[in-house]
Amino acid sequence: MSGGGRFQQKKENILKIFITGVAGFVGSHLADYFLTRGHEVIGLDMVDSTRTMNIRHILDNPRFNYIHDTILSNNTVKGLVEQADVIYHLAAAVGVENVLGDILNVIRVNVMGTEMIFRFAADFKKKVIFTSTSEIYGKSSKVPFAEDDDSLFGPTSVDRWVYAYSKALGEYISFGYWKEGMPSSVIRIFNAYGPRLDVEGSGRVLSRFIKQLINDEPITIVGDGTQTRCFTYIDDIIKGLVLAGENEKALGNVFNIGNPVEIDIRKLADMLIDISGKKAKIVHIDPKVLYGQGYEDIPRRAPDVRKAKRVLGYEATTPLRDGMERTYKWFLSQTNGGGA
Ligand code: UDP
Repeated sequence: MSGGGRFQQKKENILKIFITGVAGFVGSHLADYFLTRGHEVIGLDMVDSTRTMNIRHILDNPRFNYIHDTILSNNTVKGLVEQADVIYHLAAAVGVENVLGDILNVIRVNVMGTEMIFRFAADFKKKVIFTSTSEIYGKSSKVPFAEDDDSLFGPTSVDRWVYAYSKALGEYISFGYWKEGMPSSVIRIFNAYGPRLDVEGSGRVLSRFIKQLINDEPITIVGDGTQTRCFTYIDDIIKGLVLAGENEKALGNVFNIGNPVEIDIRKLADMLIDISGKKAKIVHIDPKVLYGQGYEDIPRRAPDVRKAKRVLGYEATTPLRDGMERTYKWFLSQTNGGGA
């Protein structure tokens, strides 16, 4: 993968990149990207380093400094922000299972934690790239979603929307600090996937389907499977994050980062079955079985990536089938006892 531009040119001038949520799926790949290019990475995560596979391979790297703490730890975060050249703020309470379990925690981490990161970054005059989400568009039917399109969220009595509301507030925090002169930008990620997806949990559709295939269990399609998503291979997500961090024109802006190719869940299941070479059974399940009461699925989701292309020169280049094959192989290698 080529990330292009200025981060690479500054090789002699090594940058300190502070990544919150470094032990997560996207965070760990972002750390790999910068470490591979000779930069230093300060990584903060609440996950015990001995218990996560995602960053095990970089724990001994002398340019990687892992801090095991929450982003709500005032003093820790302040000290790390002060040391950093650039901050990628990825830490968030994410995933249906976590969000539905504890709405206050979502607000504390995603809103109050984000405000604290930005406040310290403003004090020390540091740049922040804030990762937001395609959930920002909610259940809007104007697909594909462009950055300035309306959002359509459900009522606050339905817990699942707290994630979208919290990320929307995170974006406002980023814009607010930018208006006060702080360099920041926002990236909305569309269904990232790839090696290490959900190694710790079992939440996302892709990791669920792949694990079901590997274990010879039926594939569980929620509803009729006509709902669509745009799955974006992790390299294409990292590319967008890096381009946004390098480009002055990104400041004060928000970008959709994703692969615009839309696929419905039924076809996704068929593609994965084909890749696995297995004869799998498909079962259709009620969303309530998986998510309980009070969950609303998004019927269609796709990004309009024209702004990212125009301003950042961004384009997702990994074909869906290639990315799925790589991801399937990676999960297989894990079941056969391979490393992360
Ligand atoms: N989904 C599914 N079977 C599963 C898990 C999820 O059909 O075992 C569906 C889910 O209802 C949703 C889509 O796959 O329509 C994507 O779900 P995921 O949780 O991966 O991401 P998100 O809904 O946040 O895009």
